[in-house]
Parts: sequence; C-alpha cells; structure tokens
Amino acid sequence: MKQCTHADALPDPEPVALGETCPECLRDGTHPVQLRLCLTCGHVGCCDSSPARHATEHHKDSGHPVMRTFEPGENWRWCFVDHVLV
Ligand SMILES: [Zn+2]
Ligand SMILES: [Zn+2]
Ligand SMILES: [Zn+2]
Repeated sequence: MKQCTHADALPDPEPVALGETCPECLRDGTHPVQLRLCLTCGHVGCCDSSPARHATEHHKDSGHPVMRTFEPGENWRWCFVDHVLV
C-alpha cells in the first residue's frame, strides 16, 4: 500500500471554494455530473463521470495533488498522484 504524503502538506484550514460550480463547464456549456474541490487552491471542477473532467484537467495543469468531493453529504479525499483515498 502506497503512502500518500500529499495530504499532510495541504493548507490548513482548507482553501475557500472559488465558486459554486465548475467555471470551465460554465464557460464551455458542458454540465458537471458531480463536483470536486481542489484542496490546494479551492478550484472547483467536475468529476471524471462528467463529459469534460475538469477536476482531473486542473490537476494536470496545476500539479495540485489532492481534491475532495464537493457534494453535500459526501466526505472523502482523493490523491491524483498516488491514486488513493486519503
Ligand atoms: Zn499523494
Ligand atoms: Zn467542468
Ligand atoms: Zn488547485
């Protein structure tokens, strides 16, 4: 089992969400299925079940390692680098 060191290095408290929905989807007219929050900068992006996968794109562009679900009632974090829940 791989150990994730990225979660320990995240800002505390976590960044304020930059918006209520995925800004790239708003711009492009695509529709998020679910939303994810970048825990480095507060970017909100859509999940991998969404047509445009902007959360993953944000990770690729920025290198920011960890996001969490932005869905009400859900509570988990995912490390893009290690591919583990953290
Ligand atoms: Zn990690
Ligand atoms: Zn999106
Ligand atoms: Zn970010």
